[in-house]
Amino acid sequence: MDLLTKNSKIAKSNVRAYNFGIPAFRDERGFATCPFAGACAKGCYAQAGAYKFSNVSKAFQARLDLVRQNPQAFTLQVLSELKRKKVERLRVHDSGDFFNPEYLQLWLDIAHASPTVQFYAYTKSVQWVKDAQAKGQVPTNFTFVFSYGGRQDHLIDRNRDRHSWVFSSLQALKDAGYADTSETDDNAADQNVRCIGLVYHGTKKLSNTQWQAVKGEPERKVS
Ligand code: SF4
Repeated sequence: MDLLTKNSKIAKSNVRAYNFGIPAFRDERGFATCPFAGACAKGCYAQAGAYKFSNVSKAFQARLDLVRQNPQAFTLQVLSELKRKKVERLRVHDSGDFFNPEYLQLWLDIAHASPTVQFYAYTKSVQWVKDAQAKGQVPTNFTFVFSYGGRQDHLIDRNRDRHSWVFSSLQALKDAGYADTSETDDNAADQNVRCIGLVYHGTKKLSNTQWQAVKGEPERKVS
C-alpha cells in the first residue's frame, strides 16, 4: 500500500506534489481523526463522493492503523516514498487532521528529515500547532493553514495567522480579497499567502450544512 498518493486537485499543482490522507472525522471504530471538527463535519467533502469508495476508505483506514500501531515503520515508509517518488511538495491530510500532539510531532520530525520537500497542512488542531510553533519545533519547510469551521476558531488570529475560509461562491471569495484554492492548492502551500479561500463543493446543499453558523464571515473589501 502506498502512503502518498495524488488526488485530482493535487495533480494540478505547479510542482511534483502528493497528498496523504486518513479517514475523515472518525474511523470505522469511532476513533476521532478530526478531534476539533465543528461545523465542517456536516458538509465535509472528505466524508462523501470519491472519498467513500470502498478502496479509498480502506486505504485511509490502513494508513491510520499503521501510524497508530507502528509509528516507526510508518515514518520509514513515508521517508522512502518521498525519495522514490521525488516528491517536491506534500499536503498532509487531504482527509483527516492531527489527532494528537504526538502524531503532529511525527510529521514535524518527517519534515525535519526531508528539508528539500515543502510540507503544508490545513488544520483545525490550532492549539497544538501554535504550541509547536511557540516552542520552535516547526521546521521552515512546513507551513500550516488554520481552517475555520472547527471548535478552535476562537484561537485563530486572522490578521496574523495563515487561515482558510469556505465561501458560498467564487465572487464572494474574490470580494473578500482571499486567494482562491478551489482548483489548485498552490496558494495554500505558499507561506506568503495568508488568507486562503475555498468555494464550498460538498455534496450536500450549503443550506443543509452548518457552515452558515461559523462566525466572522470575512468582510467584503471591494465596493
Ligand atoms: S476537519 Fe476536515 S476532514 Fe475533518 S471533518 Fe472537518 S472538513 Fe472533514
